[in-house]
Amino acid sequence: MILLEGKSPAAALRADLSARVAALAATARPPRLAAVLAGSDQASDLYMKRKARVGRELGIAVEEHRLPVATAAELAGLLRRLSLRSDVDGILLEQPLPCGIAKEQVLHAIDPGKDVDGTTGQTHGLLTGAPVCLAPATPLAVMRLLSHYAIPLKGAHVVIVGHSAVVGKPLALMMLAADATVTVCHKETRDLAAHTRHADVLVVAAGVPGLIRGDMIRPGAAVVDVGINLVAGRTVGDVDFESVAAVAGALTPVPGGVGPLTTLTILANTVAGAERRLLAADAGAGAAD
Ligand code: NAD
Repeated sequence: MILLEGKSPAAALRADLSARVAALAATARPPRLAAVLAGSDQASDLYMKRKARVGRELGIAVEEHRLPVATAAELAGLLRRLSLRSDVDGILLEQPLPCGIAKEQVLHAIDPGKDVDGTTGQTHGLLTGAPVCLAPATPLAVMRLLSHYAIPLKGAHVVIVGHSAVVGKPLALMMLAADATVTVCHKETRDLAAHTRHADVLVVAAGVPGLIRGDMIRPGAAVVDVGINLVAGRTVGDVDFESVAAVAGALTPVPGGVGPLTTLTILANTVAGAERRLLAADAGAGAAD
């Protein structure tokens, strides 16, 4: 079985980003990411610190905005100000949001051109085939991982478990764009195993530890576990690693699979945003000359 570790594609992406950040810093300014945490969810705080640390290692300027107690209006106000600032290239709003604040009340305040996590309805662009400015980070990380390990998608039957707006739905559209045949399952799907057993590539993003067992896998299938769950102080995915590893042809570990690549993909979206913004500014200056 091939262990689909995130380390090796992450190293390749890091090297690429370091060079691009250095080029931006030399010609204009380093890219800047504004990370926003509303409420006091400990796991989100940890994720935010990790992104900030990796971003700074790459030379990206990272601002951390913490609003332990905030109303939806205050949070939307901050996101709007960050959207308007010309020196901010990426805005990351950690989720889940604290109870009392609904996504619909705040996500609209993020400029889609700065939405490095892809939470503001980029799916619609993917659906229509229109170019999206920044694709959702987690599904993009899954695509990057599969491409790195040369897992074929063209003509493959890809089964996705989970249909959230940030992972399952945009991933289904990316898989269709890669000419896979796609089945999307969710919590109302009847007889989940009947679907997962047909998968050449199975991607699981449900947030349910141990949901997928070895007897639900086609022998030799590639299995990508997006889930991150804290169980008795340990981070585990949605896949029962032992039983699935015995049947699958390839499998991601948790932690160390999709997670590190998602962090870097968010930073890659920040760099891409900065490149686009600074290029547009250059073109504007050129036109004015
Ligand atoms: P979500 O709660 O928004 O969506 C969960 C999805 O799983 C829904 O479509 C739901 O219908 C489906 N589901 C739930 N229980 C199910 C069941 N018993 N059978 C079949 N389907 C079921 O979650 P999300 O934001 O999409 O995240 C999913 C998981 O991925 C979480 O564990 C989250 O922590 C993790 N995640 C990981 C990364 C990463 O970088 N690795 C990034 C984002 C999310």
